[in-house]
Amino acid sequence: MLIVLDRKHDTPLVDHIRALLQEKYNCESHLIGENGRVIAVPGDTKHVDIEVFENIEGVKSVDRVEPPYKLASRKNKDRTVITLRPDVMIGSRGTLAVMAGPCSIESPEQMDETAAMAKEGGVNILRGGAFKPRTGPYSFNGLGEDGLKLLKKAGEKYGMATISEAMNEEQIDTVAAYADIVQIGARNMQNYDLLRKAGTCKKPVMLKRGLAATLEEFLLAAEYILAGGNPNVILCERGIRTFEEEVRYTLCLGSLPALREMTHLPIIVDPSHAAGRSRWVKDLALAGVASGADGLIIEIHPRPEEALSDGPQSLDREQWTDCIRSIRTVAGAVGRTVV
Ligand code: PEP
Ligand code: MN
Repeated sequence: MLIVLDRKHDTPLVDHIRALLQEKYNCESHLIGENGRVIAVPGDTKHVDIEVFENIEGVKSVDRVEPPYKLASRKNKDRTVITLRPDVMIGSRGTLAVMAGPCSIESPEQMDETAAMAKEGGVNILRGGAFKPRTGPYSFNGLGEDGLKLLKKAGEKYGMATISEAMNEEQIDTVAAYADIVQIGARNMQNYDLLRKAGTCKKPVMLKRGLAATLEEFLLAAEYILAGGNPNVILCERGIRTFEEEVRYTLCLGSLPALREMTHLPIIVDPSHAAGRSRWVKDLALAGVASGADGLIIEIHPRPEEALSDGPQSLDREQWTDCIRSIRTVAGAVGRTVV
């Protein structure tokens, strides 16, 4: 960490800062350079609250140099590859992991039909929400554990891995008991108790980017899970809230190359929640693949008009068939195969 001061040779300030570093954070520090303006703090400084130093009068800037998300950082590792099955992996250089399924699991028939639709598209990961975070309290909020049983049954029948969301600490264990990947939703990205609990989970966790989270905040949230002992974290870019109102959320494609440099964790794009309209999903999906995503998660439904949640953005059979065909073409063009 580097602390740069406004004035040269301000010995009382230098002494004050160095004493604070030593006493409060047990950090050695050195005055470097000829102007006596730069204090260098070598070693691990992730426990140091940099705001304490930024707020001291006479301090110009504080730069941690090392990112605060040590475990998620690309500096430590090139890539994390999560192998769900020998032929289904997330994060390997030449593959594109596509997850598809309904927003919510609604009934045995709907789950089975949607799984069949996903499988016809040749994908191997089935999504389905059993615990639903809804904006309003009166909306359908999922079938709970019964829904998870339907997801597991469909996964087994069609030979697919499964993913479903947990909204609280207790649900992490329940979802992990039935699904292969536990999803943490955008609204819970900064639910730190939930992240800690996900760190103890034995299944991979897909963490969705918060509606207003910076990439650093996103990676710090992932860091909670990694620090808790779960190395299998997948990031999901699902669009952020901006001033734009025509699209449901603004899909932040720039986050893909940026995250690729910042972290070794796999990155999935969710074009469905970003678009909010089924007819726009394909274009965003293709853009995600072209921008370097390791995978996609797409909402599909045999009869979107009857869906109990997110019907307007769910692809029907025809749209899904067209979408997955184009996804394969673009994936091929960027050197990836759909798994
Ligand atoms: C979902 O995947 O159905 C969902 C609710 O997503 P998000 O948390 O991104 O809104
Ligand atoms: Mn949804």
